[in-house]
Amino acid sequence: MIDFVALAQPGIRALRAYDPGHDLVALRRRAAQPLLELGSNENPYGASPQAVQAAIAALASAHVYPDPLGGDLKRALARHHGIDVAQILLGNGSHEILMQLAQVFAGAGDEVVASQYGFAVYALAAQAAGAALTLAPALPNDHATPRGHDLDALRATITPRTRLVYLANPNNPTGTWFSGAAFEAFLRDVPAQVLVVVDEAYAEFADAPGCTSALPLLARHPNLIVTRTFSKAYALAGLRVGYAVAHPELIAVMERVRESFNVNAAGLAAAEAALEDAAHLAAGVAGNRVQREALADALRARGLQVAPSQTNFLLVEFGANTAQVEAALVARGVILRPMGGYGLGDCLRITVGTATENARLLAALDEVMA
Ligand code: PMP
Repeated sequence: MIDFVALAQPGIRALRAYDPGHDLVALRRRAAQPLLELGSNENPYGASPQAVQAAIAALASAHVYPDPLGGDLKRALARHHGIDVAQILLGNGSHEILMQLAQVFAGAGDEVVASQYGFAVYALAAQAAGAALTLAPALPNDHATPRGHDLDALRATITPRTRLVYLANPNNPTGTWFSGAAFEAFLRDVPAQVLVVVDEAYAEFADAPGCTSALPLLARHPNLIVTRTFSKAYALAGLRVGYAVAHPELIAVMERVRESFNVNAAGLAAAEAALEDAAHLAAGVAGNRVQREALADALRARGLQVAPSQTNFLLVEFGANTAQVEAALVARGVILRPMGGYGLGDCLRITVGTATENARLLAALDEVMA
């Protein structure tokens, strides 16, 4: 028998694959009623009808390769953000770009810095590249942004070996955020050769005063990379489109390893159309805001600890019975995301649903906790 693990590159040997949560296809097949899927931070309002139409129209050309440059989508993004086309890298979801950043800029002997309770892909990316991951401690749980990124601790974790820093604003799974001003102070303090990746997957949902995008800082900080996705607020998770915005020369280096047709034709067309449907985006973001606060209030009224969130999900503490609560909810067709992989075994992450979905969640929860 061949020991395939031993044949793998050193960084891969100790890796565990990304945990996408429950096997939803299997659960759906067994379920007596439609599942209530609140485990993956998808957008319950659905994609813009224009985006869906554009994707369908693109399928008529399914026999030809998509545009390897993604030119139309990049031009639309450049207009949307007021940036240059050469500053944009497209990805098969932003997950691909996060992995590719470590592949390109970190390797054996290098360090990658992230925060405790940072998004799981950062650790995967660093280790797959053969680099050492160092985690900065998060803010305490009694902080205004509980378990959020501690920018001072992140700065202190950077050493002469650090090549990359990954942080998310707002962050998954904590839902926490930091201000644009605090982030710029952090950036000013980071050595110019250390690349700083700000993952803004949930940025469109954020509305706290001062919770601004890092995009305007690109002009002053060539070591900054901002990643975004069409999976969350734009509701196109199934089509896999994400992008990075950074210095054109950094993007050119990233292009060397990008798979030539990494974003499919339906995804390119849908993302471009979704960008144009500002009203649909705004309606979904507004719906999320109202439902997020209502759900947080309802959960708090049941005595649960709910972290303030700037995203489309809530991190909720269920204490010692978390695993039993979760299992009992699954038995009732309600799927949340267990947080054991993040060292938060007493928490569940709940995607904010529509009013109807949240009512079903609360009813199931009341049954389970009775
Ligand atoms: N960053 C964060 C913080 C996320 O939560 C996710 C998705 N869960 C991603 C990146 C990746 O999203 P996608 O690959 O769909 O763009």
